[in-house]
Amino acid sequence: MELAINSMRAREQAWAIAVRQDIALLSHIHHATDGPFHIIHPESFADNLAAFQRVLRERNVAGRVYFGKKANKAGAWLREVARLRGSVDVASIPEFVHALANGIRGEDIGVTGAAKSNDLLWLACRHGATVAIDAMDELERAIALAAETAPLRILLRVLPPTGQNSRFGLNSNDLRGALERCAKAGHHLIMDGFSFHLDGYAVQPRAELASMLIGQCLEARRQGFPATAISIGGGFACAYVDEQDWRVFKELIDPAEFHAGKSFNQFYPYYQAPTGATMLDAILQSVDSEGTLSSKLTAAEVQLYLEPGRALLDGAGVTVFPVQGFKRNAEHGIVTVAGLSMSLSEQWKNSEFLPTPVLVQRGTPRPQDPVRAAVGGSSCMEYDVLTWRKIPFPAAPRYGDLIIYPNTAGYQMDKNESEFHQLALPPKIVVTRQGERFTWRMDQ
Ligand SMILES: *Cc1c(COP(=O)(O)O)cnc(C)c1O
Repeated sequence: MELAINSMRAREQAWAIAVRQDIALLSHIHHATDGPFHIIHPESFADNLAAFQRVLRERNVAGRVYFGKKANKAGAWLREVARLRGSVDVASIPEFVHALANGIRGEDIGVTGAAKSNDLLWLACRHGATVAIDAMDELERAIALAAETAPLRILLRVLPPTGQNSRFGLNSNDLRGALERCAKAGHHLIMDGFSFHLDGYAVQPRAELASMLIGQCLEARRQGFPATAISIGGGFACAYVDEQDWRVFKELIDPAEFHAGKSFNQFYPYYQAPTGATMLDAILQSVDSEGTLSSKLTAAEVQLYLEPGRALLDGAGVTVFPVQGFKRNAEHGIVTVAGLSMSLSEQWKNSEFLPTPVLVQRGTPRPQDPVRAAVGGSSCMEYDVLTWRKIPFPAAPRYGDLIIYPNTAGYQMDKNESEFHQLALPPKIVVTRQGERFTWRMDQ
């Protein structure tokens, strides 16, 4: 049992270890922010983005990496995208405006998401963004807006054959109708290809569907459309813990290890392989009877777009909660932190973010008597728990300590945050290494 509990140690980046050990830095930030805060590290994001771009280059595939912006709201990532000549995938007007305001040009913006509003479609027209069309009625509205504004570049989003229950994408019938409609729309639309976004993190279905869409592009070109690109969406895997730890955890999982005997139906696969840019490479190297996906893309002169969100944020942020108190109601303890479980979105999917949080002890030294404790939020809801799992701490946490959750930038930080109890949203603190030290500033 001890093994399973201890087994979920997070894989940590060197910067994150250095920051967590820099108690003076954490104390300064804590003093300035006076509550929970997120620390973000744009350099790690840039490394991830550059790795994806490098894979495309090394495999001789023309393409673009769109950052799936919804995974984290910070502005600092967008500056890195601009610097590295990347692109951004948005799904709302505020996201679109945020990208523009941080130097992303309209032509480098992709608009995906469910039925887009006319205002969003209009903005895309005005700025030369590419819109993934998801339904026939949306296509009609896009054509009408483009006719009175400017030609609009679109991709047609397909309903994946492996995900027929998805509420996104055009089925094969609508896809045929859409192409006919695009042909009639003439120069108002630039029908530039096809897109999809798959659930799960598997290589093979992405490679297969991409391959099929290359064929669709060639067919569309025969009908006179440019059809220069396909987008394979996001869903690039991440590994938060080591393989052995994840395997042991899954084997030994037991409700007794969780506060109140809580059990969960599903967890994110906290270990998987291949991840990130390596997974992109595996997709490109997937082979069928006609060769690798990369060779087919090159031969057909079809560009490959991808839209990673989580994978670009892997290792790029942590979340810090000040300890508000500690007590024992049972054999294990409860730590209460300043902050809410909404800052760890996984709880709001009825799941748990499993990489083990780390206690930073501050103040006068105390006896190092290990305790196990769940971590609760500072609201008055019974279910506001950041971690139900009984985490082993080296000593009893106390008021003034900090608890750091590792690797939270992808979807955990701010996806579900609210101002419940009129508590301020945790600020995002950008850290940058300057020589031997870190400097910090507020994200804009
Ligand atoms: C959410 C989303 C993404 C990003 O997904 P990740 O799993 O974070 O990589 C990309 N494209 C579309 C259309 C999405 O809805």
